[in-house]
Amino acid sequence: KAGENKQINPQLMKDHLKRTKGKVITRFPPEPNGFLHIGHAKAINVNFAYAEAFKGETNLRYDDTNPEAEEDQYFQSILKSIEWLGCKPTRVTYSSDHFQKLYELAIVLTKKDKAYVCHCTAQQMHEGRGGDTKGERKGCIHRDRPVEESLTEFRKMKEGFYAEGEATLRMKMDMNNPNPQFWDLVAYRVLYTHHVRTKDEWCIYPTYDYTHCLVDSFEDITHSMCTVEFVMSRESYYWLIDALEIYKPVQWEYGRLKLTNTVLSKRKLNKLVTEKYVAGWDDPRLHTLDALRRRGFTPEAINAFVRELGVTTTNSTIEMSKLEKVVRDHLNEVAPRLMVVLDPLRVTLTNLPYGHVEELELKEKDGSTHLVPFSKVVYIDRSDFSEEDDPNFFRLKKGMSVGLLQVPHPITCNEVIKDSKGKIIELKCNYDKDVKFVKPKTYIQWVGESSRHQSPIPVEIRLYSNLFHHSDPDNKEQVPGGWLSDINEESLQVKNGFMEVGIRHQLVPENKFQFLRIGYFCIDKDSDFEKNKYVFNRTVGLKEDSRK
Ligand code: ATP
Ligand code: MG
Ligand code: MG
Repeated sequence: KAGENKQINPQLMKDHLKRTKGKVITRFPPEPNGFLHIGHAKAINVNFAYAEAFKGETNLRYDDTNPEAEEDQYFQSILKSIEWLGCKPTRVTYSSDHFQKLYELAIVLTKKDKAYVCHCTAQQMHEGRGGDTKGERKGCIHRDRPVEESLTEFRKMKEGFYAEGEATLRMKMDMNNPNPQFWDLVAYRVLYTHHVRTKDEWCIYPTYDYTHCLVDSFEDITHSMCTVEFVMSRESYYWLIDALEIYKPVQWEYGRLKLTNTVLSKRKLNKLVTEKYVAGWDDPRLHTLDALRRRGFTPEAINAFVRELGVTTTNSTIEMSKLEKVVRDHLNEVAPRLMVVLDPLRVTLTNLPYGHVEELELKEKDGSTHLVPFSKVVYIDRSDFSEEDDPNFFRLKKGMSVGLLQVPHPITCNEVIKDSKGKIIELKCNYDKDVKFVKPKTYIQWVGESSRHQSPIPVEIRLYSNLFHHSDPDNKEQVPGGWLSDINEESLQVKNGFMEVGIRHQLVPENKFQFLRIGYFCIDKDSDFEKNKYVFNRTVGLKEDSRK
């Protein structure tokens, strides 16, 4: 492929090498029209890792040529996400920094008779390109107007003489080429929109097709890596560079990442956010990097995930379970363990004296321990008790015993207390310390009361499942009603549970834990540490099938 990229003028390459000293230079070029998502993590990895392998450089370039969709908050979140992943751009650049130079080159292109001002409507342009039937293509009446006339008209475009839609600058390419990227692409359009950075300086804006390759060239990018849908653009990229006789980078393509049961396109994410299907760009059910971070994903896990994908030219759809496995494996190594009950059921150990508190040791994976109070009243998870006559239920039943994690002796349930509606509100159990020890079939997690804090710490726990029912919500065969009709209304479930008191000092923003027997959880930003109000997000269950 590099063979197609012959510099028309070897001097251009010599000058480039003089400027770069032969360094590899890549760039990550997001449009600041939304938050970065897991697909961008792949793009970031491809660009930064390639440059790093050759001790090169990587620019973060804000590709800010569509002022209608771009906002200051997006510029900020993009850099934050890149840094969170551990990447440090060599420089931060903006396509808009080159608006003047791009304008001047458009004049050069027009003078070479390789661009013209066109007054066709969008519909007329579409028809000239063969229309809906992809029929005969032909250049419009403006295509062959004199160069001088186009130069005058282009200046008028810039000076605000035309309303939006009344004039464009089009590249004079090749209407006979089978590649649609040659059908006289638009280079400039009239747009009376305020730009976050250039304010109201311009009322014409360059298009992606015109800007991208030129800014790559200005920045001396050696490898311009993009996703495979741009494969047809590679030739037109080279066409424009050659037409202007400037330094020419190489374009390489790699596969776009897709994940099952979610959407990644920023246009769709924007819709989910603005129409309030989710709580914001960082809603933990989304797969933006901010959402994954809030959900409890680590940068290490995300980097490992995208690295494992490798760089191929196929657009792959990856199972969500694969992403979850990577974070589960990482959290299993690093997250401290503790006991939490999601749905507390009070258990009174009738044979222990009032005020009885014993400090027991809970072991961490690394061998360290913290203390948990074992008291006359403890809480277990409601799901660990059953009144059903199920021989395969090995947790607590009336008349039977179960082990409490780290507690020396089992407990036996003697009495079930219910309220007037028949709901179980308490179990009366015996702590079997004076009975011959029989090893219980199962040990369950529990939370006790400390003498200092009295009750356990109440916590709000948010459990997430897939935001979309189907693996490919965009697929009309799977989801005839369209992707928005596929939203899982039960993707967020809220529990009010109890947490042990032994790890208070670790209750800090974004800390991650393994809740024994349940899964991996992360402290959410909705927590109020002053008021002892704690909110946790479930990052992922302990095992693959424990997600729902
Ligand atoms: P979206 O549809 O999400 O807006 P985009 O390609 O328009 O995607 P950009 O902000 O222009 O988003 O993307 C910046 C870079 O990240 C581009 O090089 C783009 O090709 C790459 N990229 C975007 N989405 C993915 C993805 N899902 N997988 C791999 N690379 C991606
Ligand atoms: Mg883009
Ligand atoms: Mg886009």
